[in-house]
Amino acid sequence: LSEKLDKALHVLKGHGSITEVNVAETLKEVRRALLDADVNFKIAKDFTVRVKEKALGQNVLTTLQPGQLMVKIVKDELTELMGGDAEGLNLSANPSIILMSGLQGSGKTTFSGKLANFLKTKKTKKPLLVACDVYRPAAIDQLHVVGEQIKVEVFSDKGNTDPVAIAKAGVAYAKANGFNVVIIDTAGRLAVDEAMMTEISNIHKAIEPQETLFVVDSMTGQDAVNTAKAFNDVLNFDGVILTKLDGDTRGGAAISIKSVVNKPIKFIGTGEKMEAIDVFYPSRMADRILGMGDVVSLVERAQEQYDEVEARKLQKKIAKNQFGFDDFLKQIQQIKKMGNMKDLIGMIPGAGKMMKDIDIDDDAFKGIEAIIHSMTPLERTNPSVINSSRKKRIGSGSGTSVQEVNQLLKQFDQMSKMMKMMQGGKGKAMMQAMKG
Ligand code: GDP
Ligand code: MG
Repeated sequence: LSEKLDKALHVLKGHGSITEVNVAETLKEVRRALLDADVNFKIAKDFTVRVKEKALGQNVLTTLQPGQLMVKIVKDELTELMGGDAEGLNLSANPSIILMSGLQGSGKTTFSGKLANFLKTKKTKKPLLVACDVYRPAAIDQLHVVGEQIKVEVFSDKGNTDPVAIAKAGVAYAKANGFNVVIIDTAGRLAVDEAMMTEISNIHKAIEPQETLFVVDSMTGQDAVNTAKAFNDVLNFDGVILTKLDGDTRGGAAISIKSVVNKPIKFIGTGEKMEAIDVFYPSRMADRILGMGDVVSLVERAQEQYDEVEARKLQKKIAKNQFGFDDFLKQIQQIKKMGNMKDLIGMIPGAGKMMKDIDIDDDAFKGIEAIIHSMTPLERTNPSVINSSRKKRIGSGSGTSVQEVNQLLKQFDQMSKMMKMMQGGKGKAMMQAMKG
């Protein structure tokens, strides 16, 4: 996904300036990238529509750093889509009951252990684990192994085949023994079926948990959405747990699930170990989906590349003695567009040294731009024709003085000479040095 977005933003920056066509192209790529990450088609489409509205609303086209702003808009929108701020668990009741639901293999048992461990160490709670998966004898053993590992007591009743009864007994045991959190691990099936839904629904009704969590394997893609919907229809659960977000899973499922069931994602599982649990932060997830670090640096790289192409064109002109005020103006405009002038001034071949004396701010450029605008095309390409009467005309036309026109002509002359000089062998090294 990250690669795709890189490409999208590359398109955006490759043109140097952003046009409405570019924005549309970029959004098409963003949409494709989301689809590839298993985001539902309609969600991806709505998403790009919203990003486009925002981009045009914020005048991305005329901003200083359009690429960066696009990245920010996409990221903010993605964050919003996944639920805004991180949401915790409601643990105010005593004991607080947490019910796990989800398909077999989604990671319920593992997450039950992780959560117990997390609450014990981070929130100084006293959790009890309850084993309600009565179908596989090994399931109860698995929870006991986990419990021993994290030193949390496990309540189980081998031989009892009624999960509702075990859940109730577990809660009673917690109350009697001073546990303030009860985590109930349940059985799942490989696919959604009536029997499983009836069972989990019965447990839910019997113990009235404060938190019903839906655990889902983030690698299951589109299926995850349908499963989430089926469980939510029956349980109206409180939050989602995304497991197996380790490795290079991008987690597009997170976006779809949030959109379809409109429930917050509360935790993520990032490995098999008991410590591999994290609170879900939508903005971090957006970073992950966007591969943000890469994207931003790529945008910067694209910008540099663009400047290099322009610089090379310029060098050719200088070599052929064709550098004129029009090119100068173009350079100034580019610098202004890019924002950080002091850093970027060195990108104009030869200008680094020349412009050092001029106070580099927008006002400094205003005078220069006005003077150049008052020149005729002939004067711009052939500054040598500018005699004193032309200087007077340019001065009054631009609202500056003849002295200022003279100063600019002199600077321009020096700059041209220097640029010409720099075309030689040692010039290249000098230019490199000036570019820093
Ligand atoms: P359950 O059937 O829902 O109880 O699922 P389990 O907790 O038994 O997990 C199924 C498998 O997924 C086990 O092999 C776990 O070790 C593994 N697993 C669970 N959570 C994660 C995770 O966050 N990352 C990885 N890599 N594996 C996980
Ligand atoms: Mg299990």
